[in-house]
Amino acid sequence: MDPVSVAEAASIVGGTVHFPGEEREVGGVAIHSDRLQADSLFFALRGATDGHQFVARALANGAIAAVVAEDCLAELPRDAGPLIAVADPLAALQEMAVWWRRQLTSTTFVAVIGSNGKTLTKDALVGLLAGHRTTYGSPGSYNSQLGVALSVLQCPADVPVAVIEAAATEPGEMARLARIVAPDAVVFTNLGTRSAQHFDGREEHARELLGMAAGLPADGWVLMGEPDPAVHHLAASITKARVLPAGDTALPRLTRLRHVERSSLVRAFAPGGAEADLLVATPSPEVLRDLELAMGAATLLGLGPEELLAAAAEYTPPSTRMQMWRRPDGATVVGELANTDPLALSSALRTARSLTGGHGRTLMIIGDPLAGLTAESAAAMARCLRAENVQLVCGLTADAHDLVEEALRDTGVPMHRFPDEDRVRAFVATELRPDDVALVHVPRDTMVTDAWMHLVETAAATRLYVDLAAVKSNVAAFRKLVGPHTKLMGVVKAEAYGTNPVTVAHTLREAGVDWLGVATTDEGIALRRAGVQMPVLVFLAVPGDVERLVRHRLTPSLYSVEMYDAACRAAAVSGRRLDVHVEVDSGMHRSGLYPEAAIELLAKLRGHEHLRLAGLMSHLGCPDDPAEDDLTREQLKRFGSVCAAAAEMGFEDVVRHTSATAATIRFPEARYDMVRIGLGLYGLHVSTATTDLLTLTPGVGLVSRIVEIHNMAPGERVGYGGLFRAQSPDTRIALIAAGYYDAVPRAFRKVGYVLINGHRCQIAGTISMDSMAIDITGHPDAEVGDDVLIFGQHAGFSTPIEQAAAAMDTVSHELLTQVGPRVQRIFTQH
Ligand SMILES: *Cc1c(COP(=O)(O)O)cnc(C)c1O
Repeated sequence: MDPVSVAEAASIVGGTVHFPGEEREVGGVAIHSDRLQADSLFFALRGATDGHQFVARALANGAIAAVVAEDCLAELPRDAGPLIAVADPLAALQEMAVWWRRQLTSTTFVAVIGSNGKTLTKDALVGLLAGHRTTYGSPGSYNSQLGVALSVLQCPADVPVAVIEAAATEPGEMARLARIVAPDAVVFTNLGTRSAQHFDGREEHARELLGMAAGLPADGWVLMGEPDPAVHHLAASITKARVLPAGDTALPRLTRLRHVERSSLVRAFAPGGAEADLLVATPSPEVLRDLELAMGAATLLGLGPEELLAAAAEYTPPSTRMQMWRRPDGATVVGELANTDPLALSSALRTARSLTGGHGRTLMIIGDPLAGLTAESAAAMARCLRAENVQLVCGLTADAHDLVEEALRDTGVPMHRFPDEDRVRAFVATELRPDDVALVHVPRDTMVTDAWMHLVETAAATRLYVDLAAVKSNVAAFRKLVGPHTKLMGVVKAEAYGTNPVTVAHTLREAGVDWLGVATTDEGIALRRAGVQMPVLVFLAVPGDVERLVRHRLTPSLYSVEMYDAACRAAAVSGRRLDVHVEVDSGMHRSGLYPEAAIELLAKLRGHEHLRLAGLMSHLGCPDDPAEDDLTREQLKRFGSVCAAAAEMGFEDVVRHTSATAATIRFPEARYDMVRIGLGLYGLHVSTATTDLLTLTPGVGLVSRIVEIHNMAPGERVGYGGLFRAQSPDTRIALIAAGYYDAVPRAFRKVGYVLINGHRCQIAGTISMDSMAIDITGHPDAEVGDDVLIFGQHAGFSTPIEQAAAAMDTVSHELLTQVGPRVQRIFTQH
């Protein structure tokens, strides 16, 4: 918003100024006392906590003035800064938004309303338009009385289009929001079948929502997402703008052809006859409908057919997110949008099983009421559950679940019913065994609810989040860097750097990685047992392992003559030809044969009966350090001489490889035929020498939570050795349920802090085995149960792992692989 003086702000919100100070201008609004910009106007809102408690703090943190309720004025400090007294601070914030909206005369405002799919439709519309016109979209699902006001206030002055989501849960709310948004057009997703509590029937509910359209200009429009003659009629009677029915032939249409993995292949018809096949990354027909609606709105906003199809082809639905949590005992819970389409359901069940290995049982938990389900689709669903070997179905007492239970009766798949989600959760929490996987169908728009997350979170307070979408985008970045002819190996040793090798392996396969690398035979066998079929190279098998390597189709690296002898024997016994890689020690002196010895070995392999030279490898000692580039080049030269010898001996199709993450980025000549990426998969750089050369997406975060808070008197000390001493009388110490057994080494003290809601809180004293203490003095918002980001990325906050590792004099590899068995791994993926 444009800057205004305190007096002007007071007049906009209809308040009176008390205790005016020096004249400074207000440039934005804030509702959190600790998250405000220095020129903000702080609004003391009454929510779960009363914002009036934080007025002094907000002013101390730089707020220009605070808007407060008149009836609280007497209790507020007089000397902290200017206060603007109003009857209701939330209404005042809304007035501010109304004022700002009036300034934005050249922006077309589109409101997205309806029962379901608002956020998806809004995000899709913003995504479609984004390449062509700057488009502002309200953040996340900000759609309440507060959210809409903040959305409008955050809209920049010069954008051509703003898309704002709005919701009403009680009568009268939409009219207030309509005043703020003052839309030029409205997209009405649907009325939904779930009965809206506070409305007296469908018509009243529809009338309330359509309140957003009441003031539309005559040249505006309302786009309906659902063919419902009654609602359409109502809309036409409420507004003088054009009302376009769902499926209007002048608008784009999508027809689903089939499923491809977890995506849908659709045929898109744009107005004017343009057509294209699109692969949309969602199995859900509802999400496709939301996209179709957004395409309709984009067309009405002037996007041409060719541009529209191109934009739709690039669009990835953000909310078809499938989330998985792996409990420390090995059981996995996968959350997905409810979708009864049998094809989508099988695809979800298969993905869930493949991501986990599929040894345990598969449970299906229907957390959505499935309103509108027909007997026919219930039967199809039951057949699918049977065919996918689901061993147990949990459902609700909802009517539609009668149909599912009925249909399941003949298939022999048992179904348990529960009166509410809480009870389903309690059952599932005790029923799940190691290796089981539970697919949870959650209602649309709720996504995977926090409550479900709780089911697995309660088992462990400390969680390692791994963003599989980030892993995929990092694979794509390396693929682009090395080009199409160099193979990619994903290194998944050490539990895939502390995450989970099976889950990561499946993700890597989907992302087009060619090989996997592990350190030990057992690691390779674990992958095979979990159904991973990709070629796997074992860097450091021992001679006694070779028989098992052969049995599990794992490829050994021959780094010594003893390994060669063992490989000969095992291959001869098996009667099968064994592919091997030979490791050359080119100067790192960790493992491998010296160049001369390697060439001798090659001579033995030439024309060998049982062994075939499939690869030649080496490892570089300091490719991340520019000061040692001479050494790296010397290593590459020695390796090159062995490669030349192999070529001279007539070996063909030998995959040559030397580079891990750092060398791949810094030494194009070291990439040869394959690169071996470990750390880079998680978006982490090995050293600052590579950061500017390749952009990666960090995707790992270690999060724990506050389990206790205590107040301390000055002079009192905390922890082993009493290293922390309370200074001020308001010292507050929070206990976090993560210690060095979990993932926070004692040396983490050198990093110094963790983040709570983005705020740095100092570590207090030494880190214990199971816990650590932090100083939350000055963070009155911090409460028991709050998430604490220890390192990495989570929920928009970040402490780069590389920086933490550097502070501890170690590398990110070590920090990640020390994440212990008690820590819950949580995988998210788009
Ligand atoms: C661990 C390892 C890698 C991967 O290293 P990053 O630096 O994590 O990419 C590659 N090759 C070998 C032989 C390894 O041991």
